Amino acid sequence: MTTSEAMPPEAKRIRENYESIVQRVRSLGGSDVQIIAVTKTFPASAVNAVVAAGCLSIGENYAQDLLEKWPEVDVNHRPEVHFIGRLQTNKVRSLSHVVDVWQSVDRISVIDEIARRAPIARIMLQVNAAGESDKGGCAIPELESLYDHCLIRGLTVSGLMTVGPTNGEVAATRQAFETTARLAQGLGLREVSMGMTGDLDMAIDCGSTMVRIGSAIFGDRPPMADK
Ligand SMILES: *Cc1c(COP(=O)(O)O)cnc(C)c1O
Repeated sequence: MTTSEAMPPEAKRIRENYESIVQRVRSLGGSDVQIIAVTKTFPASAVNAVVAAGCLSIGENYAQDLLEKWPEVDVNHRPEVHFIGRLQTNKVRSLSHVVDVWQSVDRISVIDEIARRAPIARIMLQVNAAGESDKGGCAIPELESLYDHCLIRGLTVSGLMTVGPTNGEVAATRQAFETTARLAQGLGLREVSMGMTGDLDMAIDCGSTMVRIGSAIFGDRPPMADK
């Protein structure tokens, strides 16, 4: 590719990494799997670089981090923005002009606030499929009533989201992903957002339609930012 020679090294590295993730997802049989580039803690230049490399969607975890970089994101190539972090009700309003898909919806108060501030946005319900106490996401028995509540509030729910177990243990990860895929199917939901840099292969094997990839594209983050 001739254009990549003119790019700063950072953008070139991001492009190469993104392209190898695309290849890897394809080789795992996931040609229809959407790749969300997780740009949390990285500057707007990283967003612009991955979008220039052909990625159409980014994921962000922190309201302030996102709002600070947003003015420098190239508006002519605006990515679809997925909010994937712990969501505080009082942040929904300020994020509503930026976020297209709210992936980490896990309680009634957040659903009500999105219905009020961003009624046409897409919602995904986050499930704590591994039942870890430090994880976001609703408990499995609460899922159906949250889903019903979204419908009552007139919101579009496109799917479920989960984060694999922190210990990365293979059997537990598989179980969490299979459970989430099965729950989505039971509700008639098409999208299943699961799989990060460390468990991408297993997620695709279990039926992921959306993987959220950060460090494999952008490199390591400061550990504090990884919550
Ligand atoms: C940070 C984060 C990711 C990306 O993690 P990597 O391991 O860097 O790919 C994906 N999903 C969520 C919810 C995250 O917080």
